[in-house]
Amino acid sequence: MNFIEEIIENDIANGKNDSKVHTRFPPEPNGYLHIGHAKSICLNFGIAKKYGGLCNLRFDDTNPVKEDVEYVDSIKEDINWLGFQWAEEHYASDYFDQLYEWAERLILEGLAYVDDQSQEEISKGRGVPTKPGTESPFRNRSVEENLDLFRRMKNGEFPDGSKVLRAKTGMSSPNMHMRDPIMYRILHSEHHRTGNKWCIYPMYDYAHGQSDSIEGITHSICTLEFEVHRPLYDWFCEALRIHHPQQIEFARLNLSYTIMSKRKLLQLVKDHYVMGWDDPRMPTICGLRRRGYTPQSVRNFAETVGIAKRDNVIDVSLLEFCAREDLNKVATRTMAVLDPVKLIIDNFPEDKVEMMNAVNNPENPDAGTREVPFTKELWIERADFRENADKKFYRLTLGGEVRLKYAYIVKCVSIDKDAEGNITAIHVTYDPETKSGMPASNRKVKATIHWVAVDYASVAEVRLFDRLFAVPAPDEVEEGKTFLDNLNPDSLKVQQAYIEKTLSLSAPERHYQFERLGYFCIDKDSTADKLVFNKTVSLKQ
Ligand code: ATP
Ligand code: MG
Repeated sequence: MNFIEEIIENDIANGKNDSKVHTRFPPEPNGYLHIGHAKSICLNFGIAKKYGGLCNLRFDDTNPVKEDVEYVDSIKEDINWLGFQWAEEHYASDYFDQLYEWAERLILEGLAYVDDQSQEEISKGRGVPTKPGTESPFRNRSVEENLDLFRRMKNGEFPDGSKVLRAKTGMSSPNMHMRDPIMYRILHSEHHRTGNKWCIYPMYDYAHGQSDSIEGITHSICTLEFEVHRPLYDWFCEALRIHHPQQIEFARLNLSYTIMSKRKLLQLVKDHYVMGWDDPRMPTICGLRRRGYTPQSVRNFAETVGIAKRDNVIDVSLLEFCAREDLNKVATRTMAVLDPVKLIIDNFPEDKVEMMNAVNNPENPDAGTREVPFTKELWIERADFRENADKKFYRLTLGGEVRLKYAYIVKCVSIDKDAEGNITAIHVTYDPETKSGMPASNRKVKATIHWVAVDYASVAEVRLFDRLFAVPAPDEVEEGKTFLDNLNPDSLKVQQAYIEKTLSLSAPERHYQFERLGYFCIDKDSTADKLVFNKTVSLKQ
């Protein structure tokens, strides 16, 4: 049980909120969700589920300049893909009328005022944490004047930045967020939902807690950077005498070799450093999905990471481990050759096609078996043969033996080379007595290699990925450099591969294990004529 669950179980035992649990996930629709958000989603939806409660999806859409419906749609798709269903879908913008009414109430009670100072003057007045700040010269306006000015702000009489509404919390708190915080700013900007109805927009601190309150949220879970905002969250709920949810903070997820700021991810997309938000190298949920991660593997990752109270950095290899672990259970096995060289079985009949029985998934007997055609000419990996090998090389060598997976033991008898000395074909002989599944012979071979029959292979494009960033902490840069300088120039490699012909777009499977090579998935760029595969993760670390 983590510390958040402890708080909740305590509240349930004490009958707080009638022992009900209601959480929410509150994204700002200004970008696509990333693995950090997945953590928050699993936490909020997971807690609601565990305690028989509800979890809302609320779009924190109070900043019209950066927000868009494209992001709203992608966020919903990603949450559903992760396997969660929200109880209610809300938008902070749906509460603009209520928030405005409450702001007038605070003005009437002498708890808010209109300030004509510029942004710079306001910051300057706040001063430093160790000394009280300076009060605004507009702080003691009458209630009537404040009400009149605030209404005229709303009616569009003043230009952007000329006035703000501030809460009167005092100017001496050591917490700078509690020095007369701004509640509303003037922004003559169209909103993706409310259009041109508003030209004043509430600040995060004035919108978030009240939105939680309106929805009857019991536990408002957020990341640590909001800890210093909590006194203000509490202040507004108290001042307005409304339902008061409990804000609880946990450490945000940080991953090595990964950037998680939406602003920076947007820059990667806009400036074409990646193919899009769903580029398989991106830490976005749609990127992970396209890369071949399963929802289960992402949920397992969130669970394994756990909930911490202090910031830390998780090694990205843990995410890869979780992908591997789940794909091992669900991925269909198949054979593919990425760097081919021809293997010719000299003593195998020219036109013979022998069907070999291959297991689709040794972890799941229900997945059954399939027949794979075996012929005189096969493709094998170039790296599985070495002409001059030392004792540590267990695969095929001149004069040596190896087993062809699901088929026979073969012995290398000769090789063909072109004028430059490159190997063009490897000649072997096979022993018919050694077929897989036959009673064990006393023949020992140290390695089994995979293959694809030349006449029964299709060509596919395979995209191999390395980490998008070359360094563990891409955000840490020297002066004059940016995170872009830390991009890995070799993060994408495209190859042609031979695959079993049975793989097709219409096959129900999307996730495959290319035996001995790694986990791969069919990419959306595939056509009926040519499949495109993304490498999700290698078989071993
Ligand atoms: P970014 O800094 O990437 O723009 P954000 O915090 O501004 O992210 P929001 O849309 O406001 O993004 O986040 C929605 C919810 O997801 C918030 O409750 C936020 O605390 C949580 N969240 C965002 N990033 C992480 C993270 N790395 N780990 C855990 N939770 C996160
Ligand atoms: Mg945010």
